[in-house]
Amino acid sequence: MKRIALFPGSFDPITKGHENILRRALPLFDEIIIAIGKNGSKQNFFSLEQRENWIKQVFANEPKVIVATYTGLTINFCKERNANYILRGLRTSADFEFEKAIAQNNKIMAQEIETIFILPVPELSAINSTIVRDIIRNGGDVTPFVPEGIRII
Ligand code: ADP
Repeated sequence: MKRIALFPGSFDPITKGHENILRRALPLFDEIIIAIGKNGSKQNFFSLEQRENWIKQVFANEPKVIVATYTGLTINFCKERNANYILRGLRTSADFEFEKAIAQNNKIMAQEIETIFILPVPELSAINSTIVRDIIRNGGDVTPFVPEGIRII
């Protein structure tokens, strides 16, 4: 059976932190689907199309990576795509508490799906999309925080 993982998130925008987690997870799986969640109540900064295009650009040479968008429960999208793993990053203790509750509840709803956590490398653990958006809003240069080749003005 193919080992397929889903890496869900808003990727608003994709950062070097996301990229690092995904590249380190690649040897573990046959396919990783980067799944951009379309959450009706969440106001996103960049359009879905823009976020999707940047991710596709970053992983253009990586045939194991697929980019998709979804609405609804992450476990339902996993089932739709035959993904038995959910991939998440754990940056802080706050992330841990939040992710623990979600993963444990997902486990109750879908026992066949395992959530796999990867810790960031120390130099990337402070990067998060919220701060990147703040820097953009205030006219700063986010080149150090986003994947190589991504130009955000
Ligand atoms: P969400 O809104 O679901 O948290 P994000 O796009 O912010 O989506 O993040 C998607 C995943 O990437 C999450 O598991 C998050 O913990 C992880 N992540 C984000 N930034 C980093 C980073 N700098 N290092 C490691 N993991 C990260």
